Amino acid sequence: MSDIIKEVVDWIKKHRSFLITSHEAGDGDSIGSQIAMSFILEKMQKSSLILNKDPVPNTYKFLPGAERIKIQGDEGGIGAEYEAAIFLDCGSLERTGLSLPPVSSCLNIDHHLNNDRFCQLNWIDPYMSSTAEMVYLLADALSIPLEPALGSNLYTGILTDTGCFTYSNTTPRGLRIAAELIESGVDPSSIANQVYGRKSVAQLLLLGAALSSLTLTEDERIALILLKEEVFKKYETTQADAEGVVNYPLTIDSVEVSVLFKEISEDFFKVSFRSKGRVNVAAIAESFGGGGHHNAAGVKMRGSYSLIREQILDSICRQLANPLLSDRERYENNFE
Ligand code: 5GP
Ligand code: MN
Repeated sequence: MSDIIKEVVDWIKKHRSFLITSHEAGDGDSIGSQIAMSFILEKMQKSSLILNKDPVPNTYKFLPGAERIKIQGDEGGIGAEYEAAIFLDCGSLERTGLSLPPVSSCLNIDHHLNNDRFCQLNWIDPYMSSTAEMVYLLADALSIPLEPALGSNLYTGILTDTGCFTYSNTTPRGLRIAAELIESGVDPSSIANQVYGRKSVAQLLLLGAALSSLTLTEDERIALILLKEEVFKKYETTQADAEGVVNYPLTIDSVEVSVLFKEISEDFFKVSFRSKGRVNVAAIAESFGGGGHHNAAGVKMRGSYSLIREQILDSICRQLANPLLSDRERYENNFE
C-alpha cells in the first residue's frame, strides 16, 4: 500500500461521520465515486451523507445507491451534522457549487492535475484514469468486499472517464481493475447499455441541432458547435442532455480540437473542450478560469458568443502552433 493511501485509510478510520461531495453537474465518475465511497463507509459502520448541488442526471439514476445523493434543500441536507468531509473528483471548493459550512477535517481525492489541494489531506494523482479508480484502490486497501452494487459504481466511473476505454488515460491498471470488477459480478454490457443506450428522442434531436451548427476552421483542425438556449427549450431538454455531443466532431479525421458552446443564458456559456493528440485543452480552459484534463476540459464564460469564440479560437491556434507539455510532463515538472 502506498504511503498516501495508508494516510487516507488512517484518516477515515479516525472519523465517524462524513459529508461526501463532488463538483456540480455530476458525471459518471463523480456520481459513481461518491456512491461507492458511501458504500465503503457503510461497510466500516460509519455514517455519511452525500450532498450535491445538482440532482443525479437521468443517465445515472440506474446506479445502485443513486437515491443516496441529496441536493441542497433536501431534508437531511446541509444542516446535518458531520465530523469530516470527503471531496471526490473536485478541483476546488467553488466547483462544488455549494456553500458548505466549515468542517474541522477534510480529505480531497482527485485525478485533476490542477486541483487546488484545499484539504488537510490531499490525494491527487493525475496518473489515475478516474477518481473511481482511486476509490477502488482505497476499497482494496480497506479490504472491503467487492459486491456488485459497489463495483457497478466504480466500473461506471472508470468507463465514462476513459470514454469507454478509448481516451489517452486508458491504462493497464484501469483495465485490470475493470476486469476485477467484472469478475466480482459487475455486468459490463448492462452498464454500457444503461449509460449509452437509453437516450430520448429529444436528446437525438438536440444532437442533430448541434451537428447542424458545426463549423470548422479553414485548416479543419478545430471544430465548433453551438447549442443556443432556445434549442434546449425547443426540445424540452437541459444542458445534461447534451452530454457526449462534444465528442462527435473528433470523429472527423482532421479535427484535433472540438469545442461545444452551450448557452446557459444571454451572454453566458458553458464551453466544453475535447482534443485528440497533443493539444492540452485543460491549459486552455484554465486560462479562462476553468479546468479539466489534457483531452477533456470545460469552463463557464461570460460575454457575447462572437467574442468568446474569438478568444477561444485564438488560444487553441496558439497552442496548435506551439504545443504545450502533456499533463504527465507538467506533473513531472511541477511535483517531482
Ligand atoms: P464537460 O465538458 O464534460 O462538462 O467536462 C469535461 C471535464 O472538464 C470535466 O471532467 C472536468 O474535469 C472539467 N470541467 C468542466 N467544466 C469545468 C469548469 O467549469 N471548471 C473546471 N475547473 N473544470 C471543468
Ligand atoms: Mn473524473
